[in-house]
Amino acid sequence: MSKPRLDGKVAIVTGGASGIGEAAARLFASSGATVVIADIQDALGEAVAASAGCAYMRCDVTDEAQVEATVAAVVAAHGRLDVMVSNAGVLLPTGSVMEMDLAELDRVMAVNFRGAAACVKHAARAMVSPPAPGGAIVCTASVASLQGGFGPASYTASKHALLGLVRAAAGELGRHGVRVNCVSPGGVATPMSCALMGVRPEELEAMTVPHNVLRGKVLRAEDVAEAALFLASDQAGFISGHNLVVDGATTAVNPAVLHTVGL
Ligand code: NAD
Repeated sequence: MSKPRLDGKVAIVTGGASGIGEAAARLFASSGATVVIADIQDALGEAVAASAGCAYMRCDVTDEAQVEATVAAVVAAHGRLDVMVSNAGVLLPTGSVMEMDLAELDRVMAVNFRGAAACVKHAARAMVSPPAPGGAIVCTASVASLQGGFGPASYTASKHALLGLVRAAAGELGRHGVRVNCVSPGGVATPMSCALMGVRPEELEAMTVPHNVLRGKVLRAEDVAEAALFLASDQAGFISGHNLVVDGATTAVNPAVLHTVGL
């Protein structure tokens, strides 16, 4: 199978100034797409966009009006929107569920769930419009969309909710030719995860490697970007409502049982 391409497609990548979103923006641009990075880190976003051949627009996904305006500006400039990568996210150290700060829970949900909902809503409205209805929405969820234990309860709840949104949207938008999917990474050393753990990227990778089911490999932002590229491309033309887990089998097996039975 040839490598997925996005020639002629117009894409928005939220949270594209850093980490997984940056890797996706760079890969999508080098795969033929016109890419607009939408983020709140203006200086970083501008710099990434300049070096990756993308455009940058400030867009705080917690503000629906900004999401709507970003989509409208992209459609006005390029005549269409083919791909929305709703990737912006936060991971706050909200601590034990027994001490959960509900204001912090609201902040996590505002970005990870409500922000993604705004992106799905306004991307879908653009994509169902004539003259060429159709498109692909890819939301960055997480292994925390499937299991507890990968992060604080607020983060886990937000990603479970996001998966529900994606499945519901896939059901509704299929009649318009719009595909909606998730990519769900395991741990990747990005500014988000390194800040939470208070370590440098190489330290975080060294901490996770011994626990990987897939030995000898390290999950990188570029691996997640490749999965998002596939879902965004026409090669995934009949894939919708899917949660593409990129975790080297971490959520597919129970390591404790694996060791118990001597495997
Ligand atoms: P990151 O911090 O490197 O990137 C997140 C980006 O989102 C940043 O550029 C940030 O400015 C942007 N952002 C945050 N709030 C925003 C807002 N309100 N509006 C617009 N942009 C906003 O982190 P990352 O690890 O690359 O995270 C990207 C996505 O991947 C997130 O949704 C995260 O939950 C998910 N994810 C990360 C990991 C991991 O281990 N790093 C694992 C699974 C899923």
